[in-house]
Amino acid sequence: MKSIKMLLAGAALGLALATPGAFAQDKGAIGVAMPDKTVARWIDDGANIVKQLTEKGYAPDLQYMVTKGAKVLVIASIDGTTLTDVLQQAADAGIKVIAYDRLIKNSGNVDYYATFDNFQVGVIQGTSIEQALDLKTAAGPFSIELFGGSPDDNNAFFFYNGAMSVLQPYIDAGKLVVTSGQTGMDKVGTLRWDAATAQSRMDNVLSAYYSDKKVDAILAPNDVIARGVISSLKGVGYGSGDLKMPVITGQDAEVPSIKSIIAGEQTSTVFKDTRELAKVTVGMVDAMAAGETVEVNDTKTYDNGVKVVPSQLLKPVLVTKENYKQVLVDSGYYTEEQLK
Ligand code: BGC
Repeated sequence: MKSIKMLLAGAALGLALATPGAFAQDKGAIGVAMPDKTVARWIDDGANIVKQLTEKGYAPDLQYMVTKGAKVLVIASIDGTTLTDVLQQAADAGIKVIAYDRLIKNSGNVDYYATFDNFQVGVIQGTSIEQALDLKTAAGPFSIELFGGSPDDNNAFFFYNGAMSVLQPYIDAGKLVVTSGQTGMDKVGTLRWDAATAQSRMDNVLSAYYSDKKVDAILAPNDVIARGVISSLKGVGYGSGDLKMPVITGQDAEVPSIKSIIAGEQTSTVFKDTRELAKVTVGMVDAMAAGETVEVNDTKTYDNGVKVVPSQLLKPVLVTKENYKQVLVDSGYYTEEQLK
């Protein structure tokens, strides 16, 4: 919080100090704030945006939740519910705000939202479990445990609800059984998307509910959590001998998880091309700077409590052992070498 306040103080100051003409094509400073470096995607996100903004003649200032000197702020928030006051300061200083990937809640001062179709991410995860267990035709019942993302991240609810839109009918019909009985984001959320938190919850669930049966599927909302869960499962012998790894979902197509998918541990992930998200975001910056109409494709879904934020939603893609080469290598996102 403190750092965000400082960044906005700095942003106002930076506006006054910006030296026009410092670059061949100086279109002004653009502050970009990313949440953290523990999830690898945010490092790629930052690099992609900086590259593309620079190519267009802007002077990007990338900070991990700290930045200064900006006419537009691109913010991927840590806690999307606590920026109301500082965004008011931004608005007062004439700074426009784009919520990046995660919606910023409770503020009228969010101009646009660039993200992926987050509900669809969950639908893809749920469908991956449905297909891997062949739920449409198999008799079951299968045991499943559910994990959610961080409760201070609006996306986490969209992922969970999207997944449950596929899984709930099977739970209602008794084909899927949540053995621990732990359902709902209040019970399955993982604060700050922390792998160790997920791992220890999985440890507890396994020892309390699975001493005499096996778990068949895990809904994991992202790759970091999937890997925490896999560590826990390996700790009690899953993935060796007769004890098969359960079906495990993920998100972000992180390198260690693609390796895990190739090794037959994690079942799937959801690829969200951060290059495309950068492109859309830079397009928004450009349009705003030129006073042109900003392109959006959704004006209904993302109500932040004060306004429905006009959004541009990109398509997430399922990645499995079958298609990872085509989706990730052929598209140039990763090299074959990186995945060895
Ligand atoms: C992002 C995910 C990411 C998660 C944890 C979410 O808001 O959409 O891609 O895995 O945050 O950083």
